[in-house]
Amino acid sequence: MNASIPVIADPKVTRHILSAFHLRASKRLGQNFLVDRSVVQGIVAAAQLTPEDTVLEIGPGIGTLTQGLAETGARVVAVELDKKLPAVLAETLKSYDNVVIVPGDILKLNIPDILHLKDGERCKVVANLPYYITTPILMTLLEQRLPIERLVTMVQKEVAVRMTARPGSKDYGALSVAVQYFTEPCMVMDVPPRAFLPAPAVTSAVVACRVREVPAVCPQDEKLFFRLIRAAFGQRRKTLLNALMGAGLSKEQSRAGLAAAGIAEQMRGEQLPLADFARIADAVSGLLKREKEDGDVL
Ligand code: SAM
Repeated sequence: MNASIPVIADPKVTRHILSAFHLRASKRLGQNFLVDRSVVQGIVAAAQLTPEDTVLEIGPGIGTLTQGLAETGARVVAVELDKKLPAVLAETLKSYDNVVIVPGDILKLNIPDILHLKDGERCKVVANLPYYITTPILMTLLEQRLPIERLVTMVQKEVAVRMTARPGSKDYGALSVAVQYFTEPCMVMDVPPRAFLPAPAVTSAVVACRVREVPAVCPQDEKLFFRLIRAAFGQRRKTLLNALMGAGLSKEQSRAGLAAAGIAEQMRGEQLPLADFARIADAVSGLLKREKEDGDVL
């Protein structure tokens, strides 16, 4: 850390910045500022940044994590929704010429347009995510197939457990399947409420995800694959046979699809690895295609 610049990840410095700019943390925007330097260091280490990297930060706040990212020499592009904060960041990060602040909503911005990546370059994403929109942000980043190599996020512990849960565990669900389809997630550390100002009510955790160049499995129809997964986990207590009917299949179609995939009807979604969901989706998609062709002939 540059000795002449105060470290923002400190309770006193953070309180001073908030009071100097007459700011109060906004609950509505999920503002819990990090005040623990070792947590910032842990997140930055998990991102494995080099000066050649471009890193997208979501929600820089008053610049706490941004400062740690900037110190690595990487190019930092930070998107902040709170209109009051760019002026604060201009002051707190004025010593860094490798940081660009983009005002706006990460869910609405065209991300490639703000990153200006070189041909073939993949970026890293680092965020202490606003907890009220963690899943939409994760899914937006992953489903858009953005050129991301690594995604390091602070989330509620309970979400981190779901992201990394394996089949058979009670926490394994639609989020586990989606995250593990696009990435290889790994738990980095637990973070207690006292590491934030104001302290949230729950424990948090940092998860590092290596984004796969190709998804973990290759269903022929990705939309159908996710539709079946949502149905399977939307009705967790039901057997797969009944749950798949929630995806618009008839009992006969569900039965035939499961039989063709070699999966027992009484299994439940939480027991199935990604490859089994892909087999079911392919079997159902073959079945629907044949039914359509037969219907067209008649
Ligand atoms: N990075 C800072 C830190 O670690 O101390 C602040 C993290 S705070 C948990 C989340 C930040 O995300 C806040 O600054 C909030 O204003 C911002 N934010 C909330 N919703 C956002 C959105 N849709 N797009 C961009 N930033 C958002």
